[in-house]
Amino acid sequence: MKPFWHIHHEVLLEWSDDIQERIDFIQAEKPKHEVEIRLRLLKPVQGALPPKLVKAGDARDKAYDANAKARDAYDKARDAYVKAGDARDKAKAAYDKAWDAFGKDWDAYVKARAAFGKDWDALDKADAAYVKAGDAYVKARAAFGKDWDAFVKASVAYAKAGDAFVKAKAAFVKAKAAYNKAYDECLPQIEALHALECPDCPWNGTTIFPEPSQ
Ligand SMILES: [Zn+2]
Repeated sequence: MKPFWHIHHEVLLEWSDDIQERIDFIQAEKPKHEVEIRLRLLKPVQGALPPKLVKAGDARDKAYDANAKARDAYDKARDAYVKAGDARDKAKAAYDKAWDAFGKDWDAYVKARAAFGKDWDALDKADAAYVKAGDAYVKARAAFGKDWDAFVKASVAYAKAGDAFVKAKAAFVKAKAAYNKAYDECLPQIEALHALECPDCPWNGTTIFPEPSQ
């Protein structure tokens, strides 16, 4: 980040790491009669700024980056959480289905057993179907358990990322406030430097577009 005079018309000094983007925006979006004066006044600060201000600016940038990183991590954790929830729901549905099939085949087995002695083949068949359904049920239960664990893990990670994001955001708000405070405290030095580097400037302390006096 580098310091510039008059990036915005109501702020004397601000920082940018892509001033061309702002210049392009001014040329494309600002009223035609404002463009010339905006671009004439927008220029890099040449002299040394108070170390207190530079330090607070660096801290604010760092907190901003940390906040952006924490937000990305939070978004990712939320996506993983949603995905794990879907997988869990699907596994639960498969589990329910396997349980139903298991019960059905059990009924068939009981029926065939009642016919015991009459129909050996039917009993064998029902027995095999029952065992098969039992295996499917055990498998579905294991899969559901696994997806449930994954979901719990994703929930914990999601909550953790949320906490980290809240913390990073609070740190950024604090760093921003500290910078604003340093800016206010350094304003006399900033204004003195501005007077040297920006002669014939219409800046009146609040804007570069002062109302014409009547
Ligand atoms: Zn100026």
